[in-house]
Amino acid sequence: MKEEHTSVFFENNKLLFAVSTVLLIIVNILSCVYAYIMQVLLDASTGGNVKQLITILVETISLFLVFFVTQMILNKVRYAFVRRAMSQYKNKVFNLLSHKSIASFVNERTSSYVSILTNDVTVIENGYINGLFDIISMCTSFAGALLLMIWYNWMMTLVVLFLCIVPIVMSVLIGDKIVHLEKGISDKNEKFVSIIKDLLMGFPVVKSFQAEEQAVNLFCDENTDLEKGKEKRKAAEGTIKIIANEVGSFIQIGVFLMGAFLAIKGYITAGVVIAFVQLMNNVMEPIQSLPALFANRKAAKGLIAKMEQYASNNEVKDGDEVIDDIGEGIQFEQVGFSYEKGNYALHDISFKIEKGKHYGIVGGSGSGKSTLLNLLMGGFSNYEGNIYIAKKEIRDIKRECLYQLLSSVQQNVFIFDNSILNNITMFKSFDEEQVNRAIKMSGLEKLIHEKGFDYLCGENGINLSGGERQRISIARCILKNTSVMLMDEATAALDAETAKTVMTQILEMDELTSIVVTHSLEKSILERFDKLFVLQNGTIVEAGTFGELLKNKKYFYALYSLSGEQN
Ligand code: ADP
Ligand code: MG
Repeated sequence: MKEEHTSVFFENNKLLFAVSTVLLIIVNILSCVYAYIMQVLLDASTGGNVKQLITILVETISLFLVFFVTQMILNKVRYAFVRRAMSQYKNKVFNLLSHKSIASFVNERTSSYVSILTNDVTVIENGYINGLFDIISMCTSFAGALLLMIWYNWMMTLVVLFLCIVPIVMSVLIGDKIVHLEKGISDKNEKFVSIIKDLLMGFPVVKSFQAEEQAVNLFCDENTDLEKGKEKRKAAEGTIKIIANEVGSFIQIGVFLMGAFLAIKGYITAGVVIAFVQLMNNVMEPIQSLPALFANRKAAKGLIAKMEQYASNNEVKDGDEVIDDIGEGIQFEQVGFSYEKGNYALHDISFKIEKGKHYGIVGGSGSGKSTLLNLLMGGFSNYEGNIYIAKKEIRDIKRECLYQLLSSVQQNVFIFDNSILNNITMFKSFDEEQVNRAIKMSGLEKLIHEKGFDYLCGENGINLSGGERQRISIARCILKNTSVMLMDEATAALDAETAKTVMTQILEMDELTSIVVTHSLEKSILERFDKLFVLQNGTIVEAGTFGELLKNKKYFYALYSLSGEQN
């Protein structure tokens, strides 16, 4: 599972990675050659050989050229790799999210995903991708320098290696702390994004209730918390660097002393001592930065794992039954459901929906109407009892088939910041005739006539009225042309006249099966339903036609009388 998600960086990207790695290795080996040039130069000068100096000059210039060209190419290839890797990763994350069920989104904060796609990806790019290159670079430089050292003098090399043990052990110990801190920052960032989102979306409420000060305080708290987290992380990284630097200088002096001693004794030349001191840079830099690099990489991996966990959380298993028709209809069999344990939102619900008929659901606020429709849309699978469509349990039906058969108009309509047309068609292509029918039936003709298809709706439909937004969502469903339409107080935002026209048109569609939650208890509409279900505290207390229910003189009668529409 883990491998699968990190491999996305390298998909169709292996060549760029391989070329970058090879070039990186060449560049780092070339950097060791400088030490060699210094040694030859110094020893030639002490030997008084001018001719050799000229040869060395020519060699040095060629080395410079090769070094420059390789680095330029590396620059291009490496960043091309990073670009591909990161865009592939983000696309993959979004793709995973788009496969989540509606229910899992209901239960999560979308700001988590915003944070994953903004803060976390930056950390991953630096810690995981660039970190990998840095690690390769450091290791090559270290290995190259070490080989050259051994070639010069194995005794000196042993001394160097021995001195290096201390900083390595020490920073590995601090490394784990960084991983922990990075995860903390990611979590805090998530909260920070969530607060920003809330405050911006709730801006009008904050303003009208004069709660600006409280809003600013909320923001400040999260902001401070996040920055404190970052401070801790930077401090930990800083500590590693300071200690490593300190130990580094100490080791460098040690090497110089040892070299000087061996040179005096005549084991090595002065040139070799200079080469060693130069090579010490190639050895010390990796030692100083590798622990932090590994820690950052581990931290970035932690964020990748976190993303995986989010992406797989609350996944509703897709069924494998394929249906293309609702057959004899829909059946609820002793269905119970609770959002929180022991607190039933629906209880012992049993009823039948026949194909081509229209059903109304009425009941007070909180009686479970929306929950019932959500279950039917496959929103949750942890309900008791069974819900059948064409004799197949919803849990076993492929989501794709379910959404092909059922569409729902919700209370809260989401409008994209795009044209009216794209909002109706949901960016798909349809015949003009179909679009016009949907527009007519949803009562959008006037709006289209005045503003045109290309009118921009604004962020979440800010340029439209509540009624217009609702009509767009109705048009979406009509255009989708599913055999079942669920409506959840869909006409609540429309004026009485338009609501009646829209409802009448929908209830006149013979081929359509509709289940309509309605708050409006208007006789002319209620009479058109083939059957009404009356919900109270999560159970169906009455069912029948409008006429039958009135005659019963029970709960429905009371609701209806109270609404004052009986005329
Ligand atoms: P209605 O649509 O009839 O007004 P709902 O189906 O929305 O009622 O809600 C039924 C009950 O479930 C209510 O008590 C409500 O508070 C509760 N409820 C609804 N949605 C959630 C949720 N996401 N989490 C927890 N409880 C919920
Ligand atoms: Mg509701």
